[in-house]
Amino acid sequence: ITDLNKSYERGGQHIPVLEGVNLEVQSGEFIALMGPSGSGKSTLLNLIAGIDKPTSGRIEIAGVNIANLSEGELADWRAANVGFIFQFYNLMPVLTAFENVELPLLLTHLSRNQRKKHVEAALAMVSLTDRMDHYPNELSGGQQQRVAIARALVTDPTLIVADEPTGDLDRVTAGEVLDLLDELHSELGKTIVMVTHDPKAASRAKRLVHLEKGVLVPDDAINTAVLPVSH
Ligand code: ATP
Ligand code: MG
Repeated sequence: ITDLNKSYERGGQHIPVLEGVNLEVQSGEFIALMGPSGSGKSTLLNLIAGIDKPTSGRIEIAGVNIANLSEGELADWRAANVGFIFQFYNLMPVLTAFENVELPLLLTHLSRNQRKKHVEAALAMVSLTDRMDHYPNELSGGQQQRVAIARALVTDPTLIVADEPTGDLDRVTAGEVLDLLDELHSELGKTIVMVTHDPKAASRAKRLVHLEKGVLVPDDAINTAVLPVSH
């Protein structure tokens, strides 16, 4: 990520949210992104995942500058390369666990049988084989988040982005979800970028990155009185 800027236009006003962000993440790294509410964490994550486009700057992922892609190209890139995990799971209430996990595969050319194999493998990975016919409201919060992780995994993306994945869970369940993320990183070699407010969750990542008012703060500047730029 090079010289990344993002601002929103609101009522003729220009609101800068990210200013001059530079960040290098290695393939297979597990990093945590922390910072106060409103500092731009979700905005940065959405840019990395190709959900949103920057105002200026480069986001180069495996050789592709996704900031330069058209909307259509970006949607294809996202479907092939990124898995998302959100705080409130974002499962479809009218679909079973199996059908929720199958959703991203409906955009591919896989046959019904091939899709079934991938979905069952992803649900086995999160230990929910015995719950595949349950609807979200028949699952606990932790189980719903595991379904969401299976859905993020099912297309075998290289990059997994998670926005406060444990924000709605109790400590024990959060620990289980973090164990799973750790497995995706250490056993499957996924690159994981996780936003979190929880220092315990952040400590499970291999590197911590701090954002303050849209600016990345170097590690040695954290907790010092002087922080760069305020708007
Ligand atoms: P939190 O920890 O509360 O989730 P965050 O660090 O994820 O906060 P963002 O959601 O990235 O913060 O928002 C950063 C800033 O950008 C906020 O001031 C927010 O109001 C603003 N913002 C976010 N999305 C938009 C939008 N679509 N239009 C205008 N302003 C926006
Ligand atoms: Mg956020």
